[in-house]
Amino acid sequence: LLDIIELKNNLKGKFIENSPLKNHNWFKVGGMADYLFIPENLEDLIYFLKNKPKSLQITIIGAGSNILVKDSGVKGCVIKLSNFNSIKKISETKLEVQSGVLNISLANFAKEEEIGGFEFISGIPGSIGGGIAMNAGCYGREFKDILLNVSAVDFDGNLHSFENIQCGFSYRNCSLSKNLIFITAIFNGYKDIKSNIQEKLDNIKTQREEQQPKKVLTGGSTFANPEGNKAWQLIDSVGLRGYKIGGAFFSEKHCNFIINDGTATALDIQSLINEAIKRVKDKHNIILHPEIKIIGKDN
Ligand SMILES: Cc1cc2nc3c(=O)[nH]c(=O)nc-3n(C[C@H](O)[C@H](O)[C@H](O)COP(=O)(O)OP(=O)(O)OC[C@H]3O[C@@H](n4cnc5c(N)ncnc54)[C@H](O)[C@@H]3O)c2cc1C
Repeated sequence: LLDIIELKNNLKGKFIENSPLKNHNWFKVGGMADYLFIPENLEDLIYFLKNKPKSLQITIIGAGSNILVKDSGVKGCVIKLSNFNSIKKISETKLEVQSGVLNISLANFAKEEEIGGFEFISGIPGSIGGGIAMNAGCYGREFKDILLNVSAVDFDGNLHSFENIQCGFSYRNCSLSKNLIFITAIFNGYKDIKSNIQEKLDNIKTQREEQQPKKVLTGGSTFANPEGNKAWQLIDSVGLRGYKIGGAFFSEKHCNFIINDGTATALDIQSLINEAIKRVKDKHNIILHPEIKIIGKDN
């Protein structure tokens, strides 16, 4: 095993010490990563994982649309697969996609290839890796409905492959180990024509624009919907629509979204999350669980 400096010299991708994570998440908050690694390719990533100090903590981020980075920053190394961005058509309806590809890019690629079934992901502003990890979905469809299999490396650099059924997908969750980095997925759609697909994409765009706050700093839905309930209704019912702490507030338009007015700290957002959990528990005896992944050191 190599020490960090030696290791850094042997890497092909970017390896940055004390890297601010603000620019890698949609809330635009949070502290530094001790290290940020953007591997150039799979070989580079595996080399890093196999040779890193054993004690180095690893955190994976995708497009950062579902994470809240604490102000204290993230210990160890944050890995981002933005160079893993290829899409290949491997049969009439199947696409092989690397995990750093953005959902919108895959949706557009599928349209050009006249493969239907990928339209829903155009409404979810993340990457393929984050979509699989979260089993992201909207309009009645989820990643589990299009994924055939996915390859991954564990934190020791060993390769694995999982069929859909092995991923243990459920509502906004994939039950595979959290110590896995998704690399490449194979998705299956169906033959369709471009104009049909375009119409669906346009509808999703319109619906999204009507329902969700636009051009704002947010992490999307803050809480998962508890069984039989809508998180936004619960938040509304305890008077938190529009409620503000510091620079963060629950959206007036869609009150399960927390928005940063540009001055929020991660702590403001965490305080809002805690306030909602407390009020909803007190009034309804229902426990809200954040859908957003909170990452970072405790202080
Ligand atoms: C405006 C807005 C609207 C949204 N609408 C929806 C919606 O309709 N439906 C929905 O489901 N979500 C929605 N989201 C949430 C978010 O976009 C999704 O959860 C998305 O799939 C997250 O992908 P990401 O690449 O941004 O992942 P990140 O937020 O960066 O990470 C999320 C999780 O995925 C893990 N992860 C990321 N990449 C990998 C990888 N390669 N290997 C292993 N783990 C990985 C991370 O460790 C983390 O735990 C919305 C968010 C916003 C800001």
